[in-house]
Order: sequence, then structure tokens, then C-alpha cells
Amino acid sequence: MEAVKLITHRIGGKAWDGVPSRMGDVYDPATGEITAQVAYADGEVVDQAVAAAKEALASWRETSLTARTQIMFAFRELVERHREDLARILSSEHGKVFSDAMGEVRRGLDVVEFACGIPHLLKGEFSEHVSAGVNTYSIRQPVGVVAGITPFNFPAMVPMWMYPIAIACGNTFVLKPSEKDPSASNLSAELLAEAGLPDGVFNVVHGDKVAVDRLLTHPDVAAISSVGSTPVARYIYETAAAHGKRVQALGGAKNHMVVLPDADMDLAADSVVSSAYGSTGQRCMAISAVVAVGAAGDALLNKVRERLAAVKVGPGTDPSAEMGPLVTGQAREKCLSYLEQGLREGASLEIDGRELKVEGHENGFFLGPCLFDHVTPSMSIYTDEIFGPVLVMVRVDRTDDAIDLVNENRYGNGTAVFTNDGGAATKFQHEVDVGMVGINVPIPVPMAFFSFGGWKQSLFGDTHIHGPEGVAFYTRGKVVTSRWPDPSARGVDLGFPTQGRRG
Ligand code: NAD
Repeated sequence: MEAVKLITHRIGGKAWDGVPSRMGDVYDPATGEITAQVAYADGEVVDQAVAAAKEALASWRETSLTARTQIMFAFRELVERHREDLARILSSEHGKVFSDAMGEVRRGLDVVEFACGIPHLLKGEFSEHVSAGVNTYSIRQPVGVVAGITPFNFPAMVPMWMYPIAIACGNTFVLKPSEKDPSASNLSAELLAEAGLPDGVFNVVHGDKVAVDRLLTHPDVAAISSVGSTPVARYIYETAAAHGKRVQALGGAKNHMVVLPDADMDLAADSVVSSAYGSTGQRCMAISAVVAVGAAGDALLNKVRERLAAVKVGPGTDPSAEMGPLVTGQAREKCLSYLEQGLREGASLEIDGRELKVEGHENGFFLGPCLFDHVTPSMSIYTDEIFGPVLVMVRVDRTDDAIDLVNENRYGNGTAVFTNDGGAATKFQHEVDVGMVGINVPIPVPMAFFSFGGWKQSLFGDTHIHGPEGVAFYTRGKVVTSRWPDPSARGVDLGFPTQGRRG
């Protein structure tokens, strides 16, 4: 029997050659077969990675801004050149269709391109002559060794939300990617090395909670960025903060799309189908709840039904497939159990994807698009994040009811309103308690030069990720007040410094 490939850590610029004490299976979600095993780091392996990052920090933070920028540009070219290789890896381990995987790498590249502008982003402020001969200026310096903990659903892009900016700011990095689809991180590490990044600046440790816990408590890790489900995000935030670290922990979501009766219903239906079922509903910005106001409900449902009948489900390798399998058998089981709960709770299952069969892939983790109508806010299919191709529709009478519903939800990642009424859209974006809002745009993921992040239980911490807040997160501000001796202004003054002001 052929030995299954072992995916292992990358520490100090090379593949770790130890024997792992624990390993996990990596699946091809389209076939249900185990394709590889991934090493799980224990505390000692994490210590090695942090030590490598700490050793590299001293010279990396002193590396000139222009040299760091050149490496980012080289990395950008390499990712562009290997975009298809990365996308193939994403398809084979996550299951998403190839075009979606290519899109994921593109959005990751956007952050790399943002990080290429780091000399500009790290400019401080300067005030000349705050007092006679005294100048004050602010600078931003790296925080040190930083770590990233990332989810399965964007194995290339979410790490790229973090490490390009962290590294460009002069930090060194330890990434703990999802154990479900680990290979994209290793290829990214190889490309960074090829781009000229010194050994130890970027390290990858694979594994589960054991590795995460060591990073959260390690005395040499200064900051943690994490993206994952809400219970894990809360745990990471609380544990790392209790250990004195700076933390940004992005959590789960239940993203509502509010459709008003005056909306362009074809645009709304296209948007519902694309955003609820793209990537098999496994996007943190997927629309998972549609709120239909008044007459919008029936019109929208009919148009969504027509479109869903034409959606092709298949393996990521099939160029005609639009929706792939779920990431694991467990994820599929979770969706099936919510479908049963929804039926028990009295919702109406208008579109049932359970009978879907993909020929030649009978053991794959496929589930066809599902849609519940007449869902109420107390049902578990509404309150919980299902993270699969299961959309719920709630009907309300008025726009204000829709806004209240969104605001009462514990999550606040993304939301969208579909309407042709500018006044209604303006009221919605003003009143809604959500971090990212779309107006006739279903997945309002900000471009890399803005910051990404939700409100309420979708984010623990103060800073959103990438964009200007990413730069702020990965740097510490310092303000310098300087005076160069002027022989004409000498003399002792024991008063509180008032910088030359009177009174
Ligand atoms: P997850 O919470 O299971 O895992 C995230 C990371 O935490 C992984 O690296 C995992 O190994 C680690 N982890 C898991 N359990 C842990 C524990 N008990 N203690 C410490 N670490 C643990 O998330 P997932 O299933 O990989 O990803 C899907 C989730 O991520 C969804 O909830 C989705 O909404 C969320 N997500 C959010 C955003 C966002 O921007 N807010 C983006 C992408 C995904």
C-alpha cells in the first residue's frame, strides 16, 4: 500500500524533520478519501517555532523598509505566478471550485499589494517647534513575534490578511493554519523564502488546540490574530489577553440580507444565490438569513427557486461545477442535523438538497442547496451559524422590523440591504449594528486598503484586520520629543514642562 503523504511544519526556513507525536487526516472532500496526514505540533514544536521567530526578529526589524518592501514585491510576483498551484491545493483540500479558489488567492494578493506600500503606511507625524527648539514626532515600531491562528474556509486568503502586513511592519510570524486544509500555508512559506525572506521570519506550525494553547500562553509571543468560530475566538481573546498579549479574534457570523419590496428582484435573487451558496455557504460573509419585507418574500422566493434549479454541484476539479462539497463529513452531518431541527421546529423546507447525488463521487461530502421559508427568530436554524448551503428566510412587515431583527442578532459581521430607495438604504446603513454593510452588494468584503471586521460576537478585541487597522495592530506607537541644545536657552526649571505656554 502506498504511504500517505505527511504534511509537516516549516520552522526556521525549512521543513521540520522530527517525528510527530500526533497526526490528523486530511481529506479530499469531493471523494471522501484521506489524501494526507498532517503533523500536530506539541508544545515543544511550538517553542521551536517561536524561538526561530525570536532569533530572526533582531535582524528583521532592523532590515530597511526598502529591503522589506522589495521582498514583498517579489512575493507578490511569485504568488501571482503560482496562483493556479495555490488554487488547486485549495480545491483539493477545502473542496471549493477552482474559479472560487482563484478568487480567494486574488483577494489574498490584494493584501500583499497593500503591504507593498508599507513605507508609506509607516510614516509618522512631525510637529516642528512645539516649543523653542523642541520638535515632536511619532513613529511606529514592530511589536515582536506575532502569531496567526486561521480557519479552514480561506486557507490562503485569511493567513494573507495577517502575515504580509505583520512581516512588512518588521515583526516575525508563526502561523497555525487549520488542520483541515494545511498545505496552502506551506506553499506560501516556500514562496516567501524564494522571495528572499530570511529564515525564521515566517514559520508554520500545524495542529489543533494543543498548538494554539502554547501560542496563547507563550511568553515570547507579543500579539495574536485569529479568525474562527465565535466560541474559539472568545477563548483565544480571553486566554491571550490574560497572558498580556495584544489580540484581535474574529468570530462567526449570521449575515442578513434585507430585501425591500422596491428592490430590483432579479439583482436580489442573483445576489442571494451567489452569496448564500458560493463556496457551499462556508464563507464568513455568506448570506445565511434573508429578511424579506412585505411583498418581497414571494417574488424573491420564486426567482431564487428558478436560479437554484440551474446551479451545478460537483467536484472542484470539474470546470463546470459552481458549488463544491462541504469540507468534511462532520460538516455535512452538522448541516443535516440542522435540516432536521428546522423541520421539527416548523419551518418550511422549500428547497431540499439532501437527495443530491454527484455521479462518481458518492462518498464525497456533498449537499445540495437548501432553503427554509417562514423561519422565526427563536428557531435554532436562525440563531445558530450553520456554515453550509442552508439559507433561512424570515418574513417581516416593515423595514424597521428588519433592522431590529439584525440588531438583536448576537452576530454583527456583514449585512446587506437591497432597495432602490436611497433614503431607506441610508437609514439602514446608519442604524444597523454590523461592522460591514452592503447596499445592493451581497458580500460587502472591504478591499484590502480598508479594514475588515464585524461587531458584537463576530469580533473580540479592538482592531479590525488588514488595512490601516492591521498596520496599527502590528505596530506600537512611540512619540519622541527632541531638543538639540541651543546655547542661548540654558537654565534649570523645576516647574512642570509647559512647552513654552503661559499659565
Ligand atoms: P474553528 O473555530 O473550528 O477553528 C479556527 C482555528 O482555531 C483553527 O486553526 C483551529 O485549529 C483552532 N481551534 C479549533 N478549536 C479550538 C479550540 N478549542 N481551542 C483553540 N483553538 C482551536 O473554525 P473553522 O471551522 O476552521 O472555521 C469556520 C469558522 O470561522 C466559522 O465560524 C466562520 O464564520 C469563521 N470565520 C470568520 C471569519 C471572520 O472574518 N469573522 C472569517 C472566516 C471564518
